[in-house]
Amino acid sequence: MGRWKREIGIVMALVVAALLLSFFIGHLRDMLLVVALFLLVRQSMAVDELEQWLSQGALGDNRARKGIWGDIYYHLWKIKKTEKKRKKKLSRMVDQFRKSTDALPDAAVVLGEYAEIEWSNKAAREVLGLKKSDKGQRIPNLIRAPQFIEYLKSYDYRQKICIASPVNDGIILQISIVPYGAGLRLLLAQDVTQIKNMERMRTDFVANVSHELRTPLTVLKGYLETLLEMDNVPASYARSFANMATQTERMQNLVDDLLLLARLETKAKKAETVVMRDLLSQICKESDLLEKDERRIELSMATDVNVLGDAQELQSAFTNLLVNALKYSPATSPVKVSWQQNPDGSLCLEVEDFGEGIAPADIPRITERFYRADVKRGHKISGTGLGLAIVKHVLVRHDAKLEVDSELGKGSRFRCIFPAQRAC
Ligand code: ADP
Repeated sequence: MGRWKREIGIVMALVVAALLLSFFIGHLRDMLLVVALFLLVRQSMAVDELEQWLSQGALGDNRARKGIWGDIYYHLWKIKKTEKKRKKKLSRMVDQFRKSTDALPDAAVVLGEYAEIEWSNKAAREVLGLKKSDKGQRIPNLIRAPQFIEYLKSYDYRQKICIASPVNDGIILQISIVPYGAGLRLLLAQDVTQIKNMERMRTDFVANVSHELRTPLTVLKGYLETLLEMDNVPASYARSFANMATQTERMQNLVDDLLLLARLETKAKKAETVVMRDLLSQICKESDLLEKDERRIELSMATDVNVLGDAQELQSAFTNLLVNALKYSPATSPVKVSWQQNPDGSLCLEVEDFGEGIAPADIPRITERFYRADVKRGHKISGTGLGLAIVKHVLVRHDAKLEVDSELGKGSRFRCIFPAQRAC
């Protein structure tokens, strides 16, 4: 308000001067007009000066000016100073962020709406082979692995994928994408070469040990069978031999399952037409023959649509489900097997039994390796705990999923759902 007082003071002084002058020489109206014109020109010049000052980037300090314009210049100078401080702080923060992301061992790339590169860190340039000049380029033009392009386009980023590094075949990268903001995506690539190598070593080790155990077990089983067939073996020895034979057979099953699992982890995937009617009839017939007298399996084929996949793998998976259904239900109850196509085009194999069922707490764990649900059974049912792990593995290799419904004391229903793309 102080500065305004000065302006008002100037106006008043000019008006009084004009009044005094007109008192002696007359022409009051003209005098006032001259005063008004003078004030108008003065303010216009000040506005023009301000405009020039701003257009030149508000350089220099004009706070010393008197009157209201001094006030305006002072406030603008203050805003400019705060803005400068804020900019400095922001650029320091951006600098720190850039340094920390460059120190990250994992590659990080920000992708825009059209998968164009908006930003990438140092690791991305090293393991993905991106350059600073690639900014704005679409990433599928630079990383051409078909699996990566498909993953990027799918917009389903719940799973991660592994690809070889575009700059070095020996580096395995685990890629994950996180969508955020308006159409932006953050691509992360982690070097998992060591983990993958260790996984391969474990699989190779299990496969080799299992393979090496096979021959001695077959020899042992052969000798035990011969001993059991001998007439003059004392009864107590015969019982021990029978026990040994059972345990040897158990070990053989375990070794076979381990070998199958190892093969599933390393074998290339197949996609041939699997004629489901033939496959299911054969499996049901073979499994039924395992039963002593009753024929328990009821097969229903609601569709003749087949599946694209590996017949041998599917046979192992379905046989495991069927053998479980027979194993974990009374010898007189039926086991229903059905093959159908859902309205959405997906295909479903269902195996239903009316046996002991599975406790809700066990259901999420039964596909884990060596997990066997602890049921208070009157009789001990033998098994390796690997059957459902094999089923799960086979289904994953066929892009299918396993659904389990079960109620203790009532029975279980296992469903293998194959996506519509697998139908043929
Ligand atoms: P196992 O060799 O023990 O049968 P699996 O991996 O095939 O191993 O099955 C894991 C566990 O899941 C079994 O020990 C059993 O407790 C449970 N299970 C599997 N199928 C059934 C079923 N149809 N009914 C009841 N329990 C089942």
